[in-house]
Amino acid sequence: MPLDLPADHPYGIHHLPYGVFAADGASPRVGVRIGDQVLDLAGCGGDPAVWDQPSLNPLLAQGSSAWQEARSWVTSLVTEPEHEDLVRANLHPLDEVSLHLPFAVADYVDFYASEHHATNVGRIFRPDGEPLTPNWKHLPIGYHGRSSTVVVSGTDVRRPHGQRKAPSDPAPTFGPSIKLDIEAELGFVVGGATTLGEPVSVDQARDHLFGVVILNDWSARDLQAWEYVPLGPFLGKSFATSISAWVTPMAALEAARVPLPGQDPEPLDYLRGDAAEGIDIEVEVEWNGTVVARPPYATMYWAPEQMIAHMTVNGATLTPGDLFGSGTISGSERDRRGSFLELSWNGTEPIDLGEGGTRTFLEDGDEIVMRAWAPGADGTRIELGECRGRIVP
Ligand code: CA
Repeated sequence: MPLDLPADHPYGIHHLPYGVFAADGASPRVGVRIGDQVLDLAGCGGDPAVWDQPSLNPLLAQGSSAWQEARSWVTSLVTEPEHEDLVRANLHPLDEVSLHLPFAVADYVDFYASEHHATNVGRIFRPDGEPLTPNWKHLPIGYHGRSSTVVVSGTDVRRPHGQRKAPSDPAPTFGPSIKLDIEAELGFVVGGATTLGEPVSVDQARDHLFGVVILNDWSARDLQAWEYVPLGPFLGKSFATSISAWVTPMAALEAARVPLPGQDPEPLDYLRGDAAEGIDIEVEVEWNGTVVARPPYATMYWAPEQMIAHMTVNGATLTPGDLFGSGTISGSERDRRGSFLELSWNGTEPIDLGEGGTRTFLEDGDEIVMRAWAPGADGTRIELGECRGRIVP
């Protein structure tokens, strides 16, 4: 191929994730990552109304057939020798560009789709009750988060202040969170608008699923535990949510599609459809340089297509730029848990960071990096864009 990339490069021709970059003092615009470079698509002759833009939202608005055409065009650019000179003239080394939030987040919803995670949290927070709430296997539980505090990988996260009260405390107190945590998730990027009052079925959902990012749902457990009854998460979550700078198109994940682990009881009709499938994505959570967990997305109980069907079944619209999180990804084994709440069992079992000592929750200066891999086309393995964040006081 013209770009001298090995066929099995994790950012090779089968991946082609989109992002927004700025180079040489120019304003941010849409690019595609190929190898360790960014390809300027407007520079390659792409429609400036889509590609010379500071976000992916115009592309997201165009809908799924335009996404297919765009991917075919980009693939031809990076594979056909006739485009080689044009492409080389529009490549920028990754270490010479700045990466920006790839899309303006419209509505942000976060689900709770891992049975292992929901069971662990139920055991920790409600030790005397059933770990799963009665609704859990009948609908994908979610809540509306705060879209304006979604930040791109590499953005520092300031430790939030708030109100907390442990059951043994006589009264609530105020101060910086002392149980600051992560949640390793995937975030699904939505495109193509819908009409108010018209639900999207499971089988139509794929037309609205543009791509995937790694998502870190930073969580202040002490704030959350005191505030969340009865309306759900609020200030314990809304201070920051980090996402990768690169959006992996769903089209790059076709080889990663796997059956769901199994749903029993069978969900109601509106949550059924052939398109409800899992995705084989392995996530890795690194804490100050030590890998502490490898959460497996393939174990998630609910499919992203079912999440879209559920969040529109009441007639609510989808908007280009909507983002929904999968919920914390946790597998059955301890080293597959996607939050420190679970890994440390609410602070009672310290986590070993090797030479970095032990931790239960995040300290100031700590850095979390999430990475993820999936099977790509032709036996390749693709790597999703990393999601990095450091805690500052
Ligand atoms: Ca979450």
